[in-house]
Amino acid sequence: MIHLRTPGEMDTIAHAGSIIGRLFEALSGRVQPGVSTGEIDRFAEAFIVDHEGATAAFKGLYGFPGSVCISVNEEVVHGIPSNQRILEEGDIVSIDVGVRMDGWYSDSARTFAVGAVSDEATALMGVTSAALEASIASAVPGKHVGDIGAAVVRSVQGTAYGIIRELVGHGVGRELHEEPQVPNVGRAGQGPRLREGMVLAIEPMLSAGTPDIKTLEDGWTVITADRSLSAHFEHTVGITKDGPRILTSADGPVGASTPAPGTG
Ligand code: MG
Ligand code: MG
Repeated sequence: MIHLRTPGEMDTIAHAGSIIGRLFEALSGRVQPGVSTGEIDRFAEAFIVDHEGATAAFKGLYGFPGSVCISVNEEVVHGIPSNQRILEEGDIVSIDVGVRMDGWYSDSARTFAVGAVSDEATALMGVTSAALEASIASAVPGKHVGDIGAAVVRSVQGTAYGIIRELVGHGVGRELHEEPQVPNVGRAGQGPRLREGMVLAIEPMLSAGTPDIKTLEDGWTVITADRSLSAHFEHTVGITKDGPRILTSADGPVGASTPAPGTG
């Protein structure tokens, strides 16, 4: 079942989501060479729980051992934070964060550059971020879930990048993962119709090579099958009559709408 949320419920999700947006701002100066992913994990959890009633939603979810997911280079998602994993100049690191607050979830991810990175890594991150923006812009009432993935496909066309098909976005609300699934490869007009009140985590994941993935023996870490670099950008987005409302932005004060670029 696809739930429809009131504007007030979206405000609550946006409140949780603004914590993630501000966490990412705080992390941008901390994701540096020599820092371990374990340190980032501890900083993230402390930042989240500093807000009354907020918890790191991924901690223990399905048995996940970290507070946030930290995936380096060829790791796509679900990387386990570790004091042994030290970031190096030139790495790219995807940090995926869920916050639960007042019984509601919010979910967002961003790929960070560690120091100076290759032109290839910069381009991959740029295309992935642009794919997220384009797919958010298509998240309006009357379109379909397939239009979101179709926008990702259009954004990536003309590059040699792979779109990770096996991992998808999802509804967000009282649970972290709700219906519908939001594939990153879609066809316009296909899938459930987008309606005012739907809240979706839109999250394109691209690779610099193959779209195929595999899971490491730790049972969590998903990597590209050819070990090419991967990037991941995600926002939780509310479908409103005024257009897409990003619910995981740093400057998203409770009650205020944050329109996506180009949607007014
Ligand atoms: Mg996420
Ligand atoms: Mg998600």
